[in-house]
Amino acid sequence: MADSSLLAGLTASPGITSGSAYLFKAADLSYDPCQYGGAEEEQSRLEDAFKKACEELDRIKTRLSGSLGEEYGHIFRAQMTVLEDEDFKDEIREKIALGDCRAETAIEEVYKVYSGLFAEMEGGSYNAQRLADLNDVCKRVLRNLLNLEEVTLAALPPESIVVAEELFPSDTAAMDRENIRGFATEKGGLTSHVAILAKSLSLPAAVGTPALMTSIRKNDLLFLDVRDYEKAKIYVNPDTEKRKELEEARRTYLGRQEELLTMKDLEPVTTDGHRITLSANIGSVEDLVNAQGFGAKSVGLFRTEFLFLRGGLPGEEEQYQAYAEAALKLSGGMLVIRTLDIGGDKDVKALALPKEENPFLGLRGIRLTLKYEELFRTQLKALLRASVHGDIRVMFPMISSLREFRQARALVESSSAELAERGIAHKIPPLGVMVETPAAVFLADDLCKEVSFVSMGTNDLTQYVLCVDRGNEEISSSYRPLSPAVLRAIGMTARAARKNGKWAGVCGELGGNPMAIPVLIGLGVEELSVTASALPQAVSIIRNVSLDRCREVAEKAVSLSTEEDVKEFLGLNVF
Ligand code: PEP
Ligand code: MG
Repeated sequence: MADSSLLAGLTASPGITSGSAYLFKAADLSYDPCQYGGAEEEQSRLEDAFKKACEELDRIKTRLSGSLGEEYGHIFRAQMTVLEDEDFKDEIREKIALGDCRAETAIEEVYKVYSGLFAEMEGGSYNAQRLADLNDVCKRVLRNLLNLEEVTLAALPPESIVVAEELFPSDTAAMDRENIRGFATEKGGLTSHVAILAKSLSLPAAVGTPALMTSIRKNDLLFLDVRDYEKAKIYVNPDTEKRKELEEARRTYLGRQEELLTMKDLEPVTTDGHRITLSANIGSVEDLVNAQGFGAKSVGLFRTEFLFLRGGLPGEEEQYQAYAEAALKLSGGMLVIRTLDIGGDKDVKALALPKEENPFLGLRGIRLTLKYEELFRTQLKALLRASVHGDIRVMFPMISSLREFRQARALVESSSAELAERGIAHKIPPLGVMVETPAAVFLADDLCKEVSFVSMGTNDLTQYVLCVDRGNEEISSSYRPLSPAVLRAIGMTARAARKNGKWAGVCGELGGNPMAIPVLIGLGVEELSVTASALPQAVSIIRNVSLDRCREVAEKAVSLSTEEDVKEFLGLNVF
């Protein structure tokens, strides 16, 4: 057995699990262009690499269609078409014949020509998608030319713990959910998307663990001990005694979770009768099914961008089906659907967006959808159509001005007019905004005069109030959602909502933090939308505290000057 060691990270999603290490690292596609084997050999290498690439795609397509449903197979169909396109292959063959160059160089040059052509063409997102497919195909062939193995999350060995430098939503969108036990990454903060994904799958995850990729080898036995709300421990090849201890800890932890699960269907009402709306955060209909297993009766945040990260851009019909299915599954329960929130660390390959210097301050959320109006209108029409099937509410992300909300509302109205003209059944749902920028906090009173509700995205609100990149592990110790600055912003927003007769919710990770729940209720938050597995614990907390006590606790917490003081006070005083 290899050496045992213990690594420390940050808790991104709580739990305790074991499994074997699966190292996820993109292949290094660099090569020496001078190593040329002669035209004949290069042509034969090219044929061979195309053949292998086809076989790979075929295998993924079959596997994904079988385990995740037919619709996933289509992601790869478009790429298969490129691989089977003889004209495309002829161009590469010709480059090899004319240029005395390696097959690798030939394929790169042909790709460059195409990307130049696409850039000049009209056709927006459709061409961007085709270029993204071409890029993926060329990389696949290139990797096969270099005889490198494919590293993918789409097919994992049983009981894998995925170990990576960093994981992006595009890496995990088509992930093999059946065989995954947990995540450990070098980069990424507490609210990075791997953290959110892990929580939605109820899988333990540790982030911000330095030198992970050099400390762990393929198939090492790992124990992820992420029971502590802040500190994560990763045991690498623990000895027999430690293993027994960890197995025992896991049994106890799971026992406690089961106990909490018995509370899942109880009313979230405080001891003095104050009812809180407790909802779940989801990214797909599958997540909703999982959340219902934890007692979810409503959804306070449906992150629709995950529908866009699976490969192509879903059209109006595909989106309508997903939203309507979620609404129907909730049988009249509230379903807050957030319009596309991409940009920042969420890159939709199919849009081929330009790189930005400061993506979190750039073309993100509502700014992006207002710019790509066609993309936005497609989503709005799907949402309006789905609204006839349940209690759908639509929420706009990253709002920093009233102008943005009004522009979005105008597009909702014009989309409604278009559907009416087409004679399609639809309904304009209540419209709300996320409060996750300081500007939205300062404008909360004005916003609440026009919106139906507000929901606070405390992940971004913390990032923007404290000026701390939420995904940067170097400064994760400064990322403090319980800082009085953030709590006061939440209090201001909740007061503005109440004054205008609107409800205020919290849908960021803070809403599920056991320490924060009483404070949020005391500050006037009426709805908490949390990750599925945190629902039973939230019910238990709410049912064990009075509104009066929450108000006292909140008043004291916002009067303190540092997060350390807030945490100490809450740790000692809430339960
Ligand atoms: C938030 O910012 O708190 C939020 C809920 O949105 P996301 O994490 O998707 O940015
Ligand atoms: Mg956000």
